[in-house]
Amino acid sequence: MKKRSSGTRVASQRSRDWLIQQLYEEGIINSEVLKVMGRTPRDIFVDEALSSRAYENTALPIGFGQTLSQPYIVARMTESLLVGGPLQKVLEVGTGSGYQTTVLARLAGLVYTIERIKPLLIQAQMRFSQLGITNIRAKYADGFEGWPACGPYQGILVTAAPTEIPQQLLKQLAVGGRMVIPVGTTKVQSLITVTKTVDGFEMKTLERVSFVPLVGDKI
Ligand code: SAH
Repeated sequence: MKKRSSGTRVASQRSRDWLIQQLYEEGIINSEVLKVMGRTPRDIFVDEALSSRAYENTALPIGFGQTLSQPYIVARMTESLLVGGPLQKVLEVGTGSGYQTTVLARLAGLVYTIERIKPLLIQAQMRFSQLGITNIRAKYADGFEGWPACGPYQGILVTAAPTEIPQQLLKQLAVGGRMVIPVGTTKVQSLITVTKTVDGFEMKTLERVSFVPLVGDKI
């Protein structure tokens, strides 16, 4: 990857500070989430041609018909996942660019992430090493199945929308653990949190969202 000059770095820090201010004004209050997003360079998670737009509060294309979520959504999902305090083990379904994974890795003990599009996964892994992040385990697989061998997880975050919550993922949630997941049909979904209690699941709808669909086959 191309080296960027220190002038660019200063400009990016200024754009990140601006973005963090926007997130705060939109209601994100977890200071750890804001701090981590304020020091994570979103520009390296998109194609260089789009890097000047990396700190706009919008979703951006990452190829293969997929998108890097809007920063507000990344912040909202992360904040919702962490509402009960810091987490040791987190599962993410839908690595995509790896931006959300990186934010999670800076806030949790260990992050397991699954992606079904191999070139996206490989690129994301290069970004993790470029940033010197070592607490991410990544797998090329179908996220509907989760990653049972390494569960249960205190947190599960899904960044593509199924029409129903996958049973396999519910099974891999630890008691007291929480899942944040968009659920619905193409383009119109609800962001839902599911908390696993000793005798079942508690669900709460957060807001309307628009994610790419969670699809079954690997490519
Ligand atoms: N969190 C990502 C958002 C990526 S978009 C980011 O920060 O960039 C959602 C991703 O979910 C896409 O990369 C898509 O390929 C992936 N995905 C969709 N269905 C999947 C499945 N069944 N298993 C694993 N990944 C899946």
